[in-house]
Amino acid sequence: MTDMRQLIAGNWKMHGRLAEVAAYAEAIRKAPAHVDILICPPFTLLDRFAAALSSSAVALGAQDCHPTPQGAHTGDISAQMLAETGATHVILGHSERRENHGESNAVVMAKAQAAIAAGLTPIVCVGETEDQRNEGEAEGVVRGQLAHSLPAKFAGVVAYEPIWAIGTGRTPTEADVTTMHATIRTALLAQLGEAGRGIKILYGGSVKPSNAATLLALPEVGGALVGGASLQAEDLLAIAASAPRS
Ligand code: PEP
Repeated sequence: MTDMRQLIAGNWKMHGRLAEVAAYAEAIRKAPAHVDILICPPFTLLDRFAAALSSSAVALGAQDCHPTPQGAHTGDISAQMLAETGATHVILGHSERRENHGESNAVVMAKAQAAIAAGLTPIVCVGETEDQRNEGEAEGVVRGQLAHSLPAKFAGVVAYEPIWAIGTGRTPTEADVTTMHATIRTALLAQLGEAGRGIKILYGGSVKPSNAATLLALPEVGGALVGGASLQAEDLLAIAASAPRS
């Protein structure tokens, strides 16, 4: 990896109210300087967060975007609209969107292209189900997702999130995370050439203060995508503090 600073990204999912933003932003400003911090709240909080985090090093991201810049798409929000709020990143292809909204790899790729065109950094999520892991298919599934979700000129971040580890308190073994991150790096190099070396690979799935140091120290782990534990600023700060220094 060219950039060794780790990225600790909080995915608030459909949590958070306007009244919580100021205190959270105030707390998260005190994040350690050796990591990059990204908060991805619901759309409704982006503008308020952007104001609350202004002149801080904490970055702001969204959790989805539409693949086109504008049009007759009721309820959708484009990457350009996100960029206008001050967001710099967008999570794409989270398993909850792949499953609950039927998002295919092709849709995720179109969204990633739109995000890049709007100047946003896409964070593309991949990961296997528990059955796929038990059947020995995890690496093949993830390779397939990368092959069909990442545009040819991908410039962004990949998040490996085993679906069975999300919100369950369970995590893969250190050996399994290491193997999968190595597989992802190999696939990125094959797909993107040398550019694949600079893509950060986050681990996501039940990261919390008690397991973060172990997970973040594994080879090719470039940071974490944190769901539940990101809702409390002190937990996200503790996770950030345990990230290795480059
Ligand atoms: C997520 O959904 O991106 C996630 C990693 O959730 P959790 O940390 O709660 O498992």
